[in-house]
Amino acid sequence: MSNIPSEPEFEQAYKELVSTLEDSTLFQKNPEYRTALKVVSIPERIIQFRVVWEDDAGNLQVNRGYRVQFNSALGPYKGGLRFHPSVNLSILKFLGFEQTFKNALTGLNMGGGKGGADFDPKGKSDSEIRKFCSAFMERLCQHIGADTDVPAGDIGVGGREVGYMFGAYRRLRNQWEGVLTGKGLDWGGSLIRPEATGFGLVYYVEEMMKYAGKGSFAGKRVSISGSGNVAQYAALKCIELGATVVSLSDSQGCLIAEGDAHFTPEQIEEIATVKLARKPLTAFSGKSSFKYIEGARPWVHVGKVDVALPCATQNEVSKEEAQALVDNGTLFIAEGSNMGCTQDAIDVFEGVRKTKGSGSIWYAPGKASNCGGVAVSGLEMAQNSQRLSWTREEVDEKLKQIMRNAFDNGLKTAIEYVQSAEGELPSLVAGSNIAGFVKVVCAMKDQGDWWGTGAPVNGA
Ligand code: NDP
Repeated sequence: MSNIPSEPEFEQAYKELVSTLEDSTLFQKNPEYRTALKVVSIPERIIQFRVVWEDDAGNLQVNRGYRVQFNSALGPYKGGLRFHPSVNLSILKFLGFEQTFKNALTGLNMGGGKGGADFDPKGKSDSEIRKFCSAFMERLCQHIGADTDVPAGDIGVGGREVGYMFGAYRRLRNQWEGVLTGKGLDWGGSLIRPEATGFGLVYYVEEMMKYAGKGSFAGKRVSISGSGNVAQYAALKCIELGATVVSLSDSQGCLIAEGDAHFTPEQIEEIATVKLARKPLTAFSGKSSFKYIEGARPWVHVGKVDVALPCATQNEVSKEEAQALVDNGTLFIAEGSNMGCTQDAIDVFEGVRKTKGSGSIWYAPGKASNCGGVAVSGLEMAQNSQRLSWTREEVDEKLKQIMRNAFDNGLKTAIEYVQSAEGELPSLVAGSNIAGFVKVVCAMKDQGDWWGTGAPVNGA
């Protein structure tokens, strides 16, 4: 990596994966996987382009657009588009890398990719959003397709933006095809897709609770960060399952419940409307029942909680915040966001996990616990191919099964490859990383993307 510019987020994601592979018996059992690691960590293709559009005042505006087509061994490139001023190649490479292994954990035929632009949707009119989405798709459309690369939403890209981009693609290519997921229900979208990441996260944590013998969500206190798509549906599912949600946040600050206060489904719905209008949490009419802390994340302020679900953005739990959660007796941490925890925070959680007994903490990495969103995107692609729509119940049941499989796969792989003391909870971060990695690199070897001597890779 020496002759390329520093890519801090990508290097962090790469090191996180490699450290868990190194700490396991994977390379001892399969030394040729070191060759595979070199190949799999370089994207197959990166597309960079300029996006020129006109604002409402008639001024020319220009942004940087990207698509990182990371890996297509398991299926068409698949992963979201992010519109946020912080977007750069390092962030998109980290997201595409994570996405590749996450998609493998869903068990569906999807490769990994990620894209976006450094465009800030905040404060833009509907017509400016439409013009930007059309201009973005004008440049991207020649590189994607239902069997090539199927983007979806991410931060700053919701149903409205997907609609504008889908329409632009259809007009430019004269083709109606499942080229994007997260579409409107009347034109090819899947039921449960908007809910899928948040719901899937909660289904995953239910599996953790069952395995650890800690009951269910009923009666548990849950701290959530973020107030966007993932946070909203995670909160609604927690409440439906009998838990109380005691925090939410956005990029400006956090709301913390005091005393017996907690968020109701009606309040979450109002917050969804506030966020759709791209307003801050301070515009929420019920905020006086909560303590608002400007510029803060919830973790050190929320007090005793059983479950913490980071659902805003990368690196949103630091070492100190992780320690505060541990000190307050949190039992389960699961990422709704991608790379929600810093490596130092993961080290804190993984250290405490090795404590036997009721004080153990169990951490789930986003590539496993938030794979429900892309999983239902995969189900949307399947429905589009069949020109059929499945019922809400069918999709929800499939989502539950995919989350159970992702959990079981990570758990069993950790037991197989990572030595642990008796009574210790298996490392879901190591197990999920290894399971995703092995699946992708086996497919790549079968397809001649890399080769080497050593034991046969299949069935390793
Ligand atoms: P949204 O844009 O709907 O919401 C993002 C939330 O995070 C908002 O509350 C936003 O605050 C907050 N936020 C964004 N940037 C920052 C920041 N730098 N510091 C503090 N808060 C911030 O996005 P999603 O809910 O879709 O995505 C949230 C996370 O989940 C991301 O990491 C995404 O990659 C991941 N994810 C999403 C999936 C999906 O299906 N949507 C699938 C898998 C993972 P504000 O409103 O003030 O901007």
